[in-house]
Amino acid sequence: MKIWEKLADELKGEKLQPWKVEREILENYGVSSPDHFRMAALARRRFIEEITGEKFHFIGVPDKPYLMRYYCEKNGLIWELAAEDAGLKCSLCGGGLKPFGSEGERYAPLVSNYVGGREDYYSYAGRMKVNGSVEKEFVNLLQYGTGKGPIGITRGCYIINRFGGIKVKVSPLAGASRNLSYIFSSSEDRQRAIGVIERVLPRVRNNMEERLKEFGGKVATVEFLRAEDCDHSLLYVDFTADFENFRGHGDVSNAVGYAKKILDRELTRRGVRYEMSVIAQGYDGDLKPSPRNKRGRYVCAQARIPVTEVEAMTGKNIEKFLAYIHLDALGVEKLGWFGYTGMGGEIIPGMYKATKINPHAPLVSAMQKIFASVEGDRLIYGVELPNVEAGVVSCREGLVPPMGREAMRIMGIQTAAEFAACLAGQILAGEFNLAIVAVSEELYRSP
Ligand SMILES: [Zn+2]
Repeated sequence: MKIWEKLADELKGEKLQPWKVEREILENYGVSSPDHFRMAALARRRFIEEITGEKFHFIGVPDKPYLMRYYCEKNGLIWELAAEDAGLKCSLCGGGLKPFGSEGERYAPLVSNYVGGREDYYSYAGRMKVNGSVEKEFVNLLQYGTGKGPIGITRGCYIINRFGGIKVKVSPLAGASRNLSYIFSSSEDRQRAIGVIERVLPRVRNNMEERLKEFGGKVATVEFLRAEDCDHSLLYVDFTADFENFRGHGDVSNAVGYAKKILDRELTRRGVRYEMSVIAQGYDGDLKPSPRNKRGRYVCAQARIPVTEVEAMTGKNIEKFLAYIHLDALGVEKLGWFGYTGMGGEIIPGMYKATKINPHAPLVSAMQKIFASVEGDRLIYGVELPNVEAGVVSCREGLVPPMGREAMRIMGIQTAAEFAACLAGQILAGEFNLAIVAVSEELYRSP
């Protein structure tokens, strides 16, 4: 039996923690650094393959999956480069880089819990049971980058699974939005326009849905908003449409473009003058960090953990745990922000990078709110994500490269709702573990 096969068995039996595989190989298998890095990656991969029944294929492992430290003598800077990187020049001064220190201090992992990836690095981040709108056990992969985040999420999952896992509520549909705007020279013209638009709207909505058919989109809301400036009366006509597994962003844009053509024609036909008609983005919530964001779907995840267990883990009274959550929420409020983006600010992009789905820039989705309270003998700890936008199908909305599709197969994500549930679960696990180590004052403790 190969070393990594034996280690995979130990991971499966929970006799070994995933982030301790490297150390275990060095201490107990007579393998020296840096050869142990590849072995550790292979052990975690085999473990994941065995628990999921899926294979790593596109997410490969290079021959030297570790980083190497180099030294620039001129400016005293220590560089850390992937061992496969052959560009051994200091880009600040142009001088040549020399290997740093002794063999023992020269090598380090590419990322915590590394499991593969040549161009960007995948970390294992635990497995997690969710119940409710989605019933599944997810095996988490992230492209988190530097830091111990994946270890924290793995720990958080382990703790929460012990107490029954996570309950999720996921909206079955996700929104997309586009906004048609008019400028009128008088409020009378604007009022007449609203009347005309309301009369033709039922027909326009039906025809819009013809254009949303391929991805099963439905017009959900049409909202009128009036605004003023010194010289004009403005009107925003904002359309939202709902989709189950698609972003719908392009389709809703096309459908609103069609609505504009029909509505402009009707206004002109009925003698309602406007100074401008345009598809505008100010009121459509498109990529605006706003609590009224009109894109994506709502997801909420919560865990119920015995108060006595939380107190044992933190070494503090539960009031201290709640005070910490309040402290952070108040800090966010002082910044004039409405939601809280803590560790989620790193986990959310990490999951979009791992799965390579659309949107590739997860700004809209990087919104989270943490809540905590005590009910009887349980701590209720949860997270809400108001706007998770996710297109999990590789289609004309956007290509999902093979690595991303493979990551989703391994994770167990088949639908956009499952993507949202897995994301919320990982954030809950990561934030909860972070709260535990912060309250127990283990975080950033100076030696
Ligand atoms: Zn230099």
